Amino acid sequence: MFDKIRNWRVRRIVARHPIVESLWRDALQRCPAAHRLGASDQATLRVLATLFLESKSLEPAKGLQLDDADRVLLAAHACLPILKLGLDWYDGWHSIIVYPDAFIPRRPQTDAAGVVHQTSNVMAGEAWGRGPVILSWADVLNTGKKPGHNVVIHEMAHKLDMLNGDANGFPPLHRRMDRRVWSRVFSSAWDRLQEDQRNGAELPIDPYALESPAEFFAVASEQFFETPATLREHLPDVYRQLEQFYRQHPF
Ligand SMILES: [Zn+2]
Repeated sequence: MFDKIRNWRVRRIVARHPIVESLWRDALQRCPAAHRLGASDQATLRVLATLFLESKSLEPAKGLQLDDADRVLLAAHACLPILKLGLDWYDGWHSIIVYPDAFIPRRPQTDAAGVVHQTSNVMAGEAWGRGPVILSWADVLNTGKKPGHNVVIHEMAHKLDMLNGDANGFPPLHRRMDRRVWSRVFSSAWDRLQEDQRNGAELPIDPYALESPAEFFAVASEQFFETPATLREHLPDVYRQLEQFYRQHPF
């Protein structure tokens, strides 16, 4: 994953700012999606988490205090999606602002018809195009309590999606992946879920996925890492596309 020069830099950073063993054990304990990783993948995750903490600024807000264990936990969650991609996939932004709880963004939002609303939606997280990621710490700590949910992975998936423009459920695909297959798989799964929802059927995925293609990708990504067996059972084609994109096989 790392070329020679980077390897040297990486070794230096990891040597100077190591994550203490006890903090790392504690973070792994609290990050169920990392339990299924083998020893060498867990070691890579630790290196990535170290580099993540060195290169990003975690900014607790509104009186929140984050100790070292909290920071390591956040980094472990954040680096899961890029375990096989590399930290470069998080280039172009710097800050993670963490509120104590769910928050209401104080800025107008423009809808598809060009109408500007002062939104009153309570949010667990938010990711800006080239700007910060914003997270609710209460929701970060809820990871694993509601099966399939992981707000950090959700917002990181939006960041990956926005590497090639607006968040639209279409992140930059690898060379051997087929854009047409990706579109077909996601849109047919989307159509089927919409129909199930209209028929009042219980969905195998958080209905928030149906807010937009971007949310579908982000919610499916959460499920891919948190409850891969469920995603694979109910949306096997989506699961396979995410397997190719993330280059991981969580189930
Ligand atoms: Zn979202």
